[in-house]
Amino acid sequence: MNSTQTEIVVIGAGAAGLMAAIAAARAGARVRVLDGAKHIGAKILVSGGSRCNVTNEYVAPARFHGEGAAPFVTRILRSFSPADTHRFFAQIGVELKLEETGKFFPVSDSSRTVLNALLKELGDSGAILSTQTSVCDLEKEEDGWKISIPDEEIFARAVILCSGGLALPKTGSDGRGYRLARKFGHTLIQTTPALTPLVSRSAPHAKFSGLTLPVRLQFRKKDGARLAAYDGSFLFTHFGYSGPAALNLSRHVARDREKFPDSHVTLRLLPDVAEGAEAGWWHEFSGRGAKKTFAGAMNEILPGKLAATMPALAKIAPQITLGRFDKTQIAAAKSALFEMPLPVDEVADYVKAETTAGGIALEEIAPATMMSRLAPGLFFAGEVCDVDGWLGGYNFQWAWSSGVVAGRAAAKLVKAA
Ligand SMILES: Cc1cc2nc3c(=O)[nH]c(=O)nc-3n(C[C@H](O)[C@H](O)[C@H](O)COP(=O)(O)OP(=O)(O)OC[C@H]3O[C@@H](n4cnc5c(N)ncnc54)[C@H](O)[C@@H]3O)c2cc1C
Repeated sequence: MNSTQTEIVVIGAGAAGLMAAIAAARAGARVRVLDGAKHIGAKILVSGGSRCNVTNEYVAPARFHGEGAAPFVTRILRSFSPADTHRFFAQIGVELKLEETGKFFPVSDSSRTVLNALLKELGDSGAILSTQTSVCDLEKEEDGWKISIPDEEIFARAVILCSGGLALPKTGSDGRGYRLARKFGHTLIQTTPALTPLVSRSAPHAKFSGLTLPVRLQFRKKDGARLAAYDGSFLFTHFGYSGPAALNLSRHVARDREKFPDSHVTLRLLPDVAEGAEAGWWHEFSGRGAKKTFAGAMNEILPGKLAATMPALAKIAPQITLGRFDKTQIAAAKSALFEMPLPVDEVADYVKAETTAGGIALEEIAPATMMSRLAPGLFFAGEVCDVDGWLGGYNFQWAWSSGVVAGRAAAKLVKAA
């Protein structure tokens, strides 16, 4: 059995691990990065439709979930902000461009640009990367850590665990890192898929498959109290629903369904009508189109296929003109337009998920350093932690920021020793 020494071992060379290793090596530490995968950066390469959505114009702590995530993420983003992210990528030769949605992509429109620049910077920083090197075990020693990989033991003063979560397992994220952390007393907050499509087994809307429209998607308790809501583009598919609004909602459905068994999902088909303004909107709409049939009026404001289902959904004859609607019909029409029921049975599993909700409990990690409060010298970064962000570059932002904080703090620790 070979035995080697270094100052810092980073477990996992995804977005968080590469960033942590670069930050630690730039701060003067001897760093070795270990990854079980043969090809590094698989998730970076597939991200953002192979364009890698690096960050977002609207990054804010409220757009991250997890127990105690908002104050925690606030601290981390203060230490390494989206502006720092832009500077970092410019410095390593990756120019970013802003798109209308608020997403930032490399101007090359290629995720390969991002990965290549990170790998080059990793090499230039002096960190050593070992691929196909899976960490089987981690043990605390008197003045550091013993990291076991096949045929070798590595002794290091600090370890940064960046092993990811469970999303897209074929890229090497299979949850092994959770086991390593739990060995040192860390709590694993229940994991579920997040940023994943919503599944409707009966597929009542399969006939709309391929239809995209802007909506507000709402998830409510039986009594109507709202559990979550997202505005955004929405896509009907042959198995259920996708698009940003559905993907963002999925973590709530996955986590709160059991707690609130009769909770339900509805579509607000006219998201530009402010909540509470529905009655005024109908008054104006039906006043302007008093002589229009219900079917004709729906055709003017909704895509054809969807408009055609409104009479059946609202139980209103298609040929009745808006001016002749009674109170019950007005209520039914508003309900169909603003609270269209959407049967959802479950969320798609980790194979289709972009990230993992849940992970290592934040209260056991110090936000100033990303170091374990239970096992000093053990640091965390990225998806392994109980933080998941909105769709649109938020999860990479978390990986970059938490990676830098962990890398710098680990380097400081080993240099102080
Ligand atoms: C299809 C898809 C598209 C996405 N698009 C975007 C996007 O455009 N923008 C965005 O912000 N986010 C996006 N995401 C989310 C983003 O990719 C993740 O949040 C981010 O990659 C997490 O980085 P990480 O380093 O924490 O984990 P990972 O990237 O999962 O890296 C973990 C690494 O650890 C290694 N590993 C695990 N256990 C061990 C072990 N025991 N020993 C050695 N190595 C180990 C794994 O092989 C892996 O390489 C997307 C995700 C998917 C699946």
